[in-house]
Amino acid sequence: RRKIAILTSGGDAPGMNAAVRAVVRAAITRGCDAYAVHEGYQGLVDGGDMIRKMNWDDVQGYLTTGGTVIGTARCKAFRERSGRLQAAKNMVKEGIDALIVCGGDGSLTGADLFRSEWPSLLVELVENEEITQDDADEYAHLNIVGLVGSIDNDMSSTDITIGAVTCLHRICECIDSISSTASSHSRAFVVEVMGRHCGWLALMAGIATGADFIFIPERPPWGEDWQDRMCAEIKKHRDLGKRKTIVIVCEGAIDSNLEPITAKGLMDLLTDRLHLDTRMTILGHVQRGGKPCAFDRNLATMQGIEAVEAVLSSSPDIPSPMIGMNENKITRTELMEAVALTGEVAKAISRKDFVGAMDLRDPAFNQ
Ligand code: ATP
Repeated sequence: RRKIAILTSGGDAPGMNAAVRAVVRAAITRGCDAYAVHEGYQGLVDGGDMIRKMNWDDVQGYLTTGGTVIGTARCKAFRERSGRLQAAKNMVKEGIDALIVCGGDGSLTGADLFRSEWPSLLVELVENEEITQDDADEYAHLNIVGLVGSIDNDMSSTDITIGAVTCLHRICECIDSISSTASSHSRAFVVEVMGRHCGWLALMAGIATGADFIFIPERPPWGEDWQDRMCAEIKKHRDLGKRKTIVIVCEGAIDSNLEPITAKGLMDLLTDRLHLDTRMTILGHVQRGGKPCAFDRNLATMQGIEAVEAVLSSSPDIPSPMIGMNENKITRTELMEAVALTGEVAKAISRKDFVGAMDLRDPAFNQ
C-alpha cells in the first residue's frame, strides 16, 4: 500500500488547500494512504506529530479556504544536508515513499535536490545505524512530484501557477476601488503589486484596469529620459480630460541600469513634475489572502489528482515530474528541467546584458 504525503511550502497561495484536498482524496480513492506534512519542510525535518495521516473527512471545507491549513514555512534546516538527512529518516520511519510538494520555485528546487540526494541520504542513514539496510532497500526509490503554488506565476514550463489568478482578481478589485476615489478627487495613484522578479501580476492587472503606466522587471523603460516621456504621456491623458491616473509598479521593477523603480520614486516624480495630487498604495499581503477563485480551485483539483496519478505511474527511470498547465491542458514536465529554466530566467533578468539582449533600449521595441 503506497503512502503518499503532501506538504505546502514557501509563500502561501490561494488554492493550496484545494490541492491538498485533491491529493488526499485522489490517494484514498486509488487505495493509498494519504499524509499531510505540517509547516512545509520544517515538518519533514521535525517529524513526529508534524506528519499526520489524513482521512477523507479531514479535508472537508478545504476547497474554498484561502491560505494553507496545514501550514507553510521557510525552513533553513532543509537547505542543509543535515536537515534533509533528518527529513529522509522521518519519511522512512513513517513509511512514506512519495512526496508531493506544493510551492514556488524555491520549494521545488529543494524538492529536486532532495530527490537527487535520496540514494546517498539512505546510505548515510544506514551507516549511522538510523535505518536498516532492509529499510534502505525498501525505500530505495523516492517519488517526488511538484505542484506549483505561487501567486507570482513565475515558474517556467507552466502557463499558470496555483493562486496567481485569485491574486490578480484581488489586485483588480483593489485598483477598481482606488480608481473611484482617484476620479472623485482627480488624483494620481501609484500602486505597488507583488510578483518579485516576475511582472505577470502587474502587467495583467494593468491591462485589466486600464492603467496609464505599468512597470515590470522583464521590460525596463528604455533610455535615460523615461521619466520625461512618462510625464508627457500622463499630461497628454490629463489634457484630454482624464480625471485619474493609475500607475502600477511590480515590487521588483528596475530601470535599464538595473536600478529599482519604486512606488515612492514614482509618486515623487508625479508630484514634483506634474503637480498631481499623488498617493501611493502598497497593496501588500491583502493580495494573497482570502478565498481562491473558481479557476484556482479547479486548477488545484485537476493538478492534485494528476500528481497522484504521476506517483502511481512512476518508475525509477522516469524523472520526477512537475505538474503544470500548458495551452489549457494539465501537463507533466521534468521538475529538474523546469527548475533549471526558471533559475536561468531569474539570473538573466538580474544581468545587464539581458536588457541589451532584448533590445529594451531600442525605441522600436518599445512602441
Ligand atoms: P514563493 O515563490 O512564494 O516565495 P518559494 O517556494 O519560492 O515560494 P522559498 O522561500 O524560496 O519559497 O522556499 C521555501 C523553502 O524551500 C525554503 O525555506 C527551504 O526550506 C526550501 N528551499 C528553497 N530553496 C532550496 C534549496 N536550494 N535547497 C534546499 N531547500 C530549499
